[in-house]
Amino acid sequence: MNHLAKLDRKFVWHPFTQMRDWLRGEPIVIVSAKGVVLCDVRGKEYLDANSSIWTNLHGHQHSKINSAISRQLKKIAHSSALGFANEPASVLAKNLVNAADLKLENKNSKLSKVFYSDDGSTALEVALKLAYQFTLRTRGWSSAFRLSGNKLKPELQPKFLSLEGAYHGDTIGAVSLGHINLFHKAYGGMLFRTDKVMAPYCYRCPFNRAQPERNDARKYRKCNWECVGLVEKKFLAQNKKGNPYAAFVFEPLLQGAAGLIPQPSGWLGQVTEIARNHGALLIADEVMTGFGRTGVTCHVDDKAIANVAKNPAAAKLFATGRVGITPDFLCVAKGLTGGYLPMAATLTTQKVFDAFLGEYEEFKTFFHGHSFTGNQLGAAASLASLEILQTKQSVLQRTRLQKWLHEELQSLWVLPNVGDIRQVGLVAGIELVKNWQTREPFTLSERAGIRVCEAMAKRGVLTRPIGNVIAILPPYCTTQTQLRKMISALAESIDECFHQSANKKRRQK
Ligand SMILES: *Cc1c(COP(=O)(O)O)cnc(C)c1O
Repeated sequence: MNHLAKLDRKFVWHPFTQMRDWLRGEPIVIVSAKGVVLCDVRGKEYLDANSSIWTNLHGHQHSKINSAISRQLKKIAHSSALGFANEPASVLAKNLVNAADLKLENKNSKLSKVFYSDDGSTALEVALKLAYQFTLRTRGWSSAFRLSGNKLKPELQPKFLSLEGAYHGDTIGAVSLGHINLFHKAYGGMLFRTDKVMAPYCYRCPFNRAQPERNDARKYRKCNWECVGLVEKKFLAQNKKGNPYAAFVFEPLLQGAAGLIPQPSGWLGQVTEIARNHGALLIADEVMTGFGRTGVTCHVDDKAIANVAKNPAAAKLFATGRVGITPDFLCVAKGLTGGYLPMAATLTTQKVFDAFLGEYEEFKTFFHGHSFTGNQLGAAASLASLEILQTKQSVLQRTRLQKWLHEELQSLWVLPNVGDIRQVGLVAGIELVKNWQTREPFTLSERAGIRVCEAMAKRGVLTRPIGNVIAILPPYCTTQTQLRKMISALAESIDECFHQSANKKRRQK
């Protein structure tokens, strides 16, 4: 075994990993990369089919990001945002605000302030704490808070509504906002209560009366938007309690860790309008969906590509922007630095900002901050990444990649173990089932997703499953040939894992 692999096995504890399984094998040790290709310590090459857990945008070792970091490194790597401003973080804040700008009439609801932190979880913690304090202040409850000796009556506690299956990160506040049962079971006693409401999952929706077809379930579903009705009901019921929801938290266009589950077209607009009408703040978690990941337009054909070529500047970088929604909080992380460095940001409005202004001794200050807030290296990488994203070349590249991804994915429908193929822009989730005609799922102990990904790794393609869902999120620089290789490795692996015996028989004949 390679000595680095030995060191890892001896000393490192990996995230979200059953270490007993890990210790049974030899880990792949990544030592370098270029573009879409990762290289391990033995010199074997792999395609990075999930963009290094959804972070990488333009490929590894991008010359522009590399040189932006080196240039910054020659000036300073880090100074504190507690007490000082710095060069790249100031410029980046302006550029992020511009990138999120939908040219609204009402300047007060524009995202115009940037609070930096380090990762997606903390970007959500910041939004959560800001929304909590903002609600207390604007509802005049902070005085009630003080009067009752720092104990707020439960019926006055600002309440949050989020979606079933939601994932917002792993710190305690972020886990509390999320609704993945497994994590709630593990940490139940430490979490605070948030409410949840049904999220669309057309493929397995109890309200969808359609029989399975060889198509994305959103396209053939038969329902009456019951999922929207349930959101409305939830808001009405909470209003009756005299404590309307402080905020509605959501991953726009698709839920990531829930299993790459997209929302049918129109859902997001309807539910955010309901939330707004009931006075709730909108917290958009764009940690995965941000920076072009959800594509330039909904559907891409040659005409769409031609339109994009005519006006690349119109391409929106955020999922909320793509559908014309301005949240009160926009949380970004993963792709912010192009996937190079840990950095996150929470964008919010002037209105929220103003609620924290006051005399020093009023303590209206936002009491939150991290040592590496506004880090210069991260900000320099982010600036370079944003610049690349806004070039015509990148916009066109993303649009073409979205089209290729759609075309390649269609080849998977012939496999009986593929139940649903769902694509939003440059994200695809392929749900594996025992039998597509019944949608019967694999059981946990069958480890269907893990086995398929292991078989893909042998073929030189790396990704990580979410249960029975295989995630394909190619870096934006992926070529058509590389994409083809990712999808054919997936097809062959599914075949190998579930139909090997049938195949052998076929070959013997
Ligand atoms: C990854 C992710 C997070 C958490 O981000 P970290 O950087 O891993 O803390 C939060 N929300 C969504 C939607 C994510 O995909």
